[in-house]
Amino acid sequence: MEDSYKARGLRRKLVKIITEKGIESHKVLDAIGKVPRHFFFDNAFIEHAYQDKAFPIGEGQTISQPYTVAFQTELLDPQQGDKVLEIGTGSGYQACVLLELGVKLFSMEYNKVLYDRTKKKLPNMGYQPILKHGDGSLGWPLHAPFNGILVTAGAPVVPEALKDQLAIGGKLIIPVGNDKKQKMLRITRKAEEEFQTEEFDYFSFVPLLGKQGWNK
Ligand code: SAH
Repeated sequence: MEDSYKARGLRRKLVKIITEKGIESHKVLDAIGKVPRHFFFDNAFIEHAYQDKAFPIGEGQTISQPYTVAFQTELLDPQQGDKVLEIGTGSGYQACVLLELGVKLFSMEYNKVLYDRTKKKLPNMGYQPILKHGDGSLGWPLHAPFNGILVTAGAPVVPEALKDQLAIGGKLIIPVGNDKKQKMLRITRKAEEEFQTEEFDYFSFVPLLGKQGWNK
């Protein structure tokens, strides 16, 4: 699949839509404007790729809504060279947006079918995250501490393991709530034992499974 004049035009419109919904960070808007989201869709669905909507990617999972991806990325506000851990690789779209911002990206996916598919796909698109198949509710201690951890599935509680793996000054962006809606939280590690929690809007994510997620 190739990027095209048409796709670039649709992408510009998408950036305009999420700007109107309140995303302000130029860095984030530029990244959304760069990632060819239609590469994650069948040819027949190119129009869907640039609507501001979540879309099924198989295995009962979805590619997140662009506004949601932009919102979480804006809350994280990663700096060039930061070490960032994403939980829930899924299609890999959010991973590509983070890579466009120049971070060193680690990403974990629990579903083996999605993990295998995305691991093959992203290098073909020119994106090189470090991927792992496993339970992201426990984080990835081997590569900790992280400057940022971004969870793209809804958690019942904040997993302690993820707080433990934040660097001082690091931020954890995580939607927490029930199976219908979750409140977006930003937890900043101010010092070894000091965390600050900020609360934002409600969203609706697929469930975070695993040891510190919903039962599996
Ligand atoms: N970031 C993705 C959104 C994927 S939806 C994108 O941009 O497309 C959330 C993903 O989290 C699903 O793929 C689901 O399989 C995965 N997931 C759920 N629980 C998980 C866990 N404990 N560890 C890692 N991934 C998990």
